[in-house]
Amino acid sequence: MEKQQVPDLKGKEMNCIECGEKMFYSEENLVHVCLNASHGILCYYVADSCWFAAKEDTALDLSKRGIRYHFIPSSIFENAGIGASFQCEYSEKKPT
Ligand SMILES: [Zn+2]
Repeated sequence: MEKQQVPDLKGKEMNCIECGEKMFYSEENLVHVCLNASHGILCYYVADSCWFAAKEDTALDLSKRGIRYHFIPSSIFENAGIGASFQCEYSEKKPT
């Protein structure tokens, strides 16, 4: 009997790793978003398991915790609208 593997991303709940709040999930972009002012825009891209931080402090904290992330200036988020098009180009290696 064949079983189709469909990733269950629908309605997936996730809490923000910075502030612990429940994140908003954008289904079409496969991205979890938390906009808490304490850490700035913070997104988690499900398809790549990458975090996106718009604030330098937040990015630094993620880095310290060994969490995979991209630093994206908030202007990009603002121009594109949140979750407009996320791209993961995780090719550079961190020297830590
Ligand atoms: Zn948060």
